[in-house]
Amino acid sequence: MRIVNRVFQRQFSAGTVIVAVAVWMVLFCNYSFFSNVLGVYPLSLGNVGFIVSLGLLLVAVTVLLLAPFAAGRLLKPLLIAMLLVASMSAYFMDSYNLIVSTELIESAMQTDSSETMGLLSLKLVVYLGLFGILPAVLVYRARIRPRPFRAGLLSRVKLLGVSLVAIVAIIGVFNSAYASFFREHKSVRFYTNPVTPVYTAIKYADEKLVGNTTLPYQQIGLDAQQQPSAGKRRLMVLVVGETAREDHFSLNGYGRDTNPLLAERQVTSFDNVWSCGTATAISVPCMFSVLDRAHYGEQQAKSTDNVLDILQRAGVNVAWLDNNSDSKGVALRVPYVSYRSSDVNPICDAECRDEGMLEGVRKYVKEHPTGDILIVLHQMGSHGPEYAKRYPSKFAHFSPSCQSNLLEDCSEAEINNAYDNSIRYTDYFLSRVIDYLKDESADFSPAMLYLSDHGESLGENGIYLHGFPYALAPDDQKHVPMVFWSGDGYTRVQNKLAQKDFVHRKFSQDNLFHTLLGLMDVKTSVYQPALDMFANG
Ligand SMILES: [Zn+2]
Repeated sequence: MRIVNRVFQRQFSAGTVIVAVAVWMVLFCNYSFFSNVLGVYPLSLGNVGFIVSLGLLLVAVTVLLLAPFAAGRLLKPLLIAMLLVASMSAYFMDSYNLIVSTELIESAMQTDSSETMGLLSLKLVVYLGLFGILPAVLVYRARIRPRPFRAGLLSRVKLLGVSLVAIVAIIGVFNSAYASFFREHKSVRFYTNPVTPVYTAIKYADEKLVGNTTLPYQQIGLDAQQQPSAGKRRLMVLVVGETAREDHFSLNGYGRDTNPLLAERQVTSFDNVWSCGTATAISVPCMFSVLDRAHYGEQQAKSTDNVLDILQRAGVNVAWLDNNSDSKGVALRVPYVSYRSSDVNPICDAECRDEGMLEGVRKYVKEHPTGDILIVLHQMGSHGPEYAKRYPSKFAHFSPSCQSNLLEDCSEAEINNAYDNSIRYTDYFLSRVIDYLKDESADFSPAMLYLSDHGESLGENGIYLHGFPYALAPDDQKHVPMVFWSGDGYTRVQNKLAQKDFVHRKFSQDNLFHTLLGLMDVKTSVYQPALDMFANG
């Protein structure tokens, strides 16, 4: 206690506190960075110098970035904020091997409280407490030596100068090692903490603020007209899946039986379909947008009609039923019902189940006696990390299953068991949708299209969950399942499906916009037949 008191009686220069905070963050909040470095440069006598130099370089860069801003009244608040950000980021990076990307921040901003609860753990409290709050309290209590303005400025310039010289010297000494490090292992730098989280947050805020100000709402496809049809009314259910991986569907050759019910129902499974993003908040608006992945921008998509707006205007009855967080802005202008509450959803146990949305489908169809119908069902699907919560207990086919939200605490087999059970529940849900549509086939030409929003990492290379920057993301997060089923009245589509190797052709979420227009026989100048999966030619 005496020592503690004596420390607090001492006065520290602002520079010392900045350097101390930087050293702390490099030592305690960069486990992921160094473990990724050790993955490429295993600890050996030859590498030890370079690895230590990386630590020193990281300290110098952190000081260089903090020193100009952490001054005067901003000194303590900024350092405290950095410690909290670094400790939180360290928790998510160390636990799930996540990179703090704009995709991840977008997801976090749109995450509801129950999803947040799914990520909380004792380990998070320990990280935040030990690596964030504890040093933050020390910073808060530290006495900073007051200095006249000019002397303060001078010492700050000195600090910047020393950091800069240190950076140049370190890179100079390990010249060739750094050249190959920057060239060949670019992605490792995304684990530097808090440099990357702060950089990404600034980039995210910039996109939001700049993007938010300018775009007026734009209607498109105003010429859209549905062609008169001689056949029965069309009834289509589009299931937007959640976190399903293409390679975990037994329909696509997965070694475990995850699609026992769909296998009995003459469905077509496409095995070469790719997502627009690695997070719900990007993939869902993107797949309904006229913009393709290369041109997709959140603000532009939000301020432009999507395919549901166009179909509704052309006379199709459109509705969105949601058992996920929400429609991510897609269903703002069409009827929308959330099924997350037992007041609405008849099938709830630990949580409300996707199957409950079928009740809403029945009701909607009864209430709409004329015109074609398109109903979107947005699933809870296999949303992680608590896969075992995503299915009723009678669907616990594979066991033992991981019950923790700290996936690293579970074995690979336990994680896969829980995840595959959630896929089997989706298999059950989709089979129920098809059975319902079959029952309606006296009055309708029925069809179902299922498409997952993005995939999931299940621990491959230590990576969990999703939300990686698209360019770096493993295929597990981008390769998604897509399943189609139809009754009578879709001859054009069935002919296409009968073509050799058609189901192995490469498609992406860019195709959905035009494929839906084609399936509903809506003609408009924004329709591009080349992007309609089922178009002739
Ligand atoms: Zn998702």
